[in-house]
Amino acid sequence: MADPVFARLAIIGCGLIGSSLARGARASGAAAEIVIHDASPFARARIAELGLADQVTLSAEEAVTGADLIIFATPVRAIGEAAAACAHAISPGAIVSDVGSVKAAVSEALSAALPDSVHIVPGHPIAGTEQSGPDAGFAELFHQRWVILTPQAREDDAYLEAVQRLADFWTALGAQVERMDDKHHDLVLAVTSHLPHLIAYNIVGTAADMEEVTRAEVMKYSAGGFRDFTRIAASDPTMWRDIFLTNKDAVLEVLGRFTEDLQALSRAIRWGEGDKLYDLFSRTREIRRGVIEAGQESAEPDFGRKRGG
Ligand code: NAP
Repeated sequence: MADPVFARLAIIGCGLIGSSLARGARASGAAAEIVIHDASPFARARIAELGLADQVTLSAEEAVTGADLIIFATPVRAIGEAAAACAHAISPGAIVSDVGSVKAAVSEALSAALPDSVHIVPGHPIAGTEQSGPDAGFAELFHQRWVILTPQAREDDAYLEAVQRLADFWTALGAQVERMDDKHHDLVLAVTSHLPHLIAYNIVGTAADMEEVTRAEVMKYSAGGFRDFTRIAASDPTMWRDIFLTNKDAVLEVLGRFTEDLQALSRAIRWGEGDKLYDLFSRTREIRRGVIEAGQESAEPDFGRKRGG
């Protein structure tokens, strides 16, 4: 086991991602001590039963006291408030990060909540499942997955060192780290994750509301495509509500493009333009090949298998 990157890791919010962080940090030895606070009494009891932390605290304030790395893993819209509630107890020089799926809004909320004496380095692991809660996490969730850090516009040595330490922490958990501007992150994720979820929520909602086709028929004859959409549409409602409300501009921009392309497709079907359909379906096949080559074809944990060369 390597030397710990941090002496005391505080995790605020410990569901799927927070508990995976705790498990990964413990398994890799990346943090010498792990302290967890969660707002839910049920989650706190489970975290203690599962032995995920050295200490489970009643308040966030207690958890962050003396921590050199603090990671907020609550739903996106709760991060600013959670940070404000414990800001006074965070040591100067501590690194404060998060795992939220939207970055510009979270970066703004953290900056508003925290003093200048801490190093804010927002982050987003591109890894997850449709499950929630502390039981759902596992140490290998981040293995060979990308973690995007969106550092703030600071060039001083202490800050750059903090960014590197956080990158080292994620690397110790098996992830590959990339740095990106937060607004660019939000646009990229609007295309690769947020829009697909919106489409899934919509298509499953449409099928459920159709009067001519019964719900029983939808479930009974659920073919591959629809079945996959129902899996995505089973994702946590709080998490996804927060994502759409905090990444509104990028999602609406991408949705506008999507709607135009859908109109073009519907015209091609109406006028029997088979070559247009064939061309698009051939191009999209290439994209699928690219996803496979990049080792990102499955959401399943890696458990030591090398992906994508
Ligand atoms: P989750 O399983 O629902 O866990 C979130 C936990 O945070 C819950 O136990 C929740 O308690 C607790 N919480 C809420 N507000 C809090 C507060 N103010 N202080 C302390 N604890 C609080 O959620 P998750 O799937 O781990 O997602 C957490 C974050 O990771 C989100 O920001 C999400 O965007 C991001 N993320 C998720 C995925 C994914 O696939 N799930 C992937 C990448 C990033 P209650 O249940 O009582 O509210």
